[in-house]
Formats: sequence, C-alpha cells, structure tokens
Amino acid sequence: GRGLFRGKGDKMKSSELFQRAKKVMPGGVNSPVRAFGAVGGDPVFIKRGFGSRVWDEDGNEYIDYVLSWGPLILGHSHPAVVEALKRQAELGTSFGACTELEVLLAEKIREAVPSMEVVRMVNSGTEATMSAIRLARGYTGRNLIVKFAGCYHGHSDSLLIRAGSGLITYGIPDSGGVPEDTARLTLVARYNDVDMLEEIFEEKGPDIAAVIVEPVAGNMGVVPPEEDFLRALRELPRKYGALLIFDEVITGFRVSYSGAQGYYGIEPDLTTLGKIIGGGLPVGVYGGREDIMRCVSPDGPVYQAGTLSGNPLAMAAGLTTLEVLSKNPGLYDELDRRAERLCSGFKEVMEDAGIPVTVNRVCSMMTVFFTGEKVRNYDTAVKSDTRLYAVFFREMLKQGVYLPPAQFEAFFLSAAHSDEDIKKTIEAAWNAAKNLKK
Ligand code: PLP
Repeated sequence: GRGLFRGKGDKMKSSELFQRAKKVMPGGVNSPVRAFGAVGGDPVFIKRGFGSRVWDEDGNEYIDYVLSWGPLILGHSHPAVVEALKRQAELGTSFGACTELEVLLAEKIREAVPSMEVVRMVNSGTEATMSAIRLARGYTGRNLIVKFAGCYHGHSDSLLIRAGSGLITYGIPDSGGVPEDTARLTLVARYNDVDMLEEIFEEKGPDIAAVIVEPVAGNMGVVPPEEDFLRALRELPRKYGALLIFDEVITGFRVSYSGAQGYYGIEPDLTTLGKIIGGGLPVGVYGGREDIMRCVSPDGPVYQAGTLSGNPLAMAAGLTTLEVLSKNPGLYDELDRRAERLCSGFKEVMEDAGIPVTVNRVCSMMTVFFTGEKVRNYDTAVKSDTRLYAVFFREMLKQGVYLPPAQFEAFFLSAAHSDEDIKKTIEAAWNAAKNLKK
C-alpha cells in the first residue's frame, strides 16, 4: 500500500543523525528501546508532534501509538498544556522552593485516587518506585520485597531483577552492576499465580516488607490481572504485615481517572505514579496511607529529596492534563470504544491472513502478541513470535504508523486519535499482514 506518508518517504536525515548519535551516546540513545534493537532498522528521529501524529526529521508523518510510552493521553502538544507551560515558563522554570502548583496537583491526585492520602513528587517513575520500596522497608523494618516476573518498575537496583525457576526464586540481577547482595533481597513470583504467592508468604512472610506489582502489567506486553490474583494481592500482604504497592506509573489516569485501583476496586497501601501525571514532562509520584507516608523526611526518618522535585513546569503540565481529563468524564468511554475497534480490527486482519494472534487490552492500553495461546504471565508472553512482530512493526512504520519498537510493550491511544486514524491503522495492518505470511 501507499500508506499515509506525506513526506518524501526516505529517512536520510534520521539515519545521518543516528550515525552521529552513536558516536556520542551508548547505542545512540538515552533509553535502550529507542535504538530499535528489537525490530531492526535505524530509529526515526522525531521533530514535532501534534494530536495523534508525529513528524520525523525527514518530514514523514506517523500516527503515533507510543505517545512517549504512555504520558500523552491528550495527544501531542495539547493546546491547554502548551498554554500552561508558556505561562509558567515566563514566571520561572525552577525555584527549589514551595509553590502553589505542588499543592494543587497533590490535592487533585488525592481527589482522583483516594488511597493516596499523602503524596511526594519526584522526577520519574524509577524514583517513585525506588522511594516507595525504601519507605516500605523503613516502615516495616523488613528487607525482602516481592515482585513479579515480567513487571518493570524502573531501573533501581532492587527492581532490576529477572525471573528464574524454582519455587522461591532468589533474584539474580538482570543488569551488570547490581550487587548480588542487593538482588538477593528481591523475590520473584509469577504474575496471576496465587499459589506461588501463597507459598512465598508461607515461607518468608515475616521478612517481607512489600509486594510491588503493575495492577495491569504493561511491560511484558499488556497482561490483565485475574480476579483471584487481585484478591490475593490485597489479602496476603495484609495477613503478614507487609505492604501492597501498586505501581500505577502506566495505569494511573490511563485505565480510569482513578487508575487501576479504581477500575478494579482494590486499595493498595502505597501507589506510584508517573507518565500521565507529568503531562509529558518528567514527573513521578509516590503516596498512600497517611501513617506510612508520615515516615518520609522531614516528618519521619526515611530520607528522600530532589533539586527539581515538584518542578513548576512539570506541575503545570500535569495539573492541566488532569484538569482536562476531569472535565471530560466521557473521555475514558470514548478511548475504550476506539481501542476496542482497533483491537477487533487487528484480530480480524490477522485471522483473515491466517496468522495466530492474542490481543490483550485494558481500556486504552493493548498489545498484539504473535501467539495463538492465551497470554497471562511472563512465560506465556515470551511464546510470542518476536520476529513476526518485528516484520509487522517495520511494515506499519513504512505506511506511517508508529508502533512500539518491541513486542513486549503496550500500544496506547490518546483522546486525539480519531475514528479515521483507527481506520487507517487497520488498513495498514491489512497490508502488513499480507507481507507477514511471506
Ligand atoms: N513503572 C512502570 C510500570 C513503568 O512502565 C515504568 C516505565 O516505563 C517505570 C516504572 C519507570 O518509569 P520511568 O521510565 O519514568 O523511570
């Protein structure tokens, strides 16, 4: 197909920039997946974004389903966000002192997510989860934490742990530079596996400070939580005096205005947020039950600080994003409807082409797995044919559709994606599917 390209169709300038980038940055990038290692080819360098679209340095136009990996639920350069940023930039970009904007955003978060009685702003999702873990350890006086294979919680040492085999898997570091003594304190369980979680608690319960989980997994591709798993997540840690931390960096303000905890009706002890809460600027938040949060410095002994934390530009972008979302209560239903259309389109196209896929979706986050098997944890996610995904990705990119450059990531929709965008994307998928069979 001819696709959507309005530009020249070539990628000369992107390729030149990538050659230069590789000389001055590891892999030419500031975050690994951007290098397109999982899908092949040179990455495109983005120059501009508006609404559902981005344009690269060569003038090619794409419908964007990455949306900066989730933050841009209103689409690129939303006029209200841009206006708020301009206004704040003229007043000053950083003070390292108290501002009204921080109070307004904290109040707005508590209103939306009632379990977050007290919050602390940080600068990324990584900082939020790292600080929440320190707080859980400080509050409980225990050292062990439980995470799930395939869940990503940023790149702090304790959380960069992969799954191994065995009933209780003492974590082995997933990255160079993580001391084994640190990794040993992280226990890895299987997502959606209640029995395994029970056994871990039976054996180690009194030493476990917290369970951290993505309430809808987004980092092994999208994997929804099963009902008994959610129930066990709430009951088991409570029974053993451990804390439940919902990492809602992706799901916060994404699956509903009150996050996954509102969507499923489950209240964690601590919650981490990021992405949407910064409206496209660097922000993370951790917060939760007041008695726990009062342990954070200067109210309590658990130290955590930041030169740029509560940065006025970031607060302005986040606050404006939440204001737009809260004034449009129908927006989540609209996103859900369009996402459903997109997913049934993908399914139909692949079925027609005889290519087995499993499409997982919760509201406006979704993944097309190239496997006919149900995907409910890391072990089943990795059965996906990543080579087929890579071909699919490149075929879509050629036609002006920018998907996540790796199989185990979520596609996101924004309020700016139109029915027409969805239609064009499904047409592109139809063309791509024909080439997948070859
Ligand atoms: N937690 C989850 C669920 C995430 O998806 C991510 C990033 O993708 C993080 C934490 C880390 O956030 P950041 O990349 O802002 O450090």
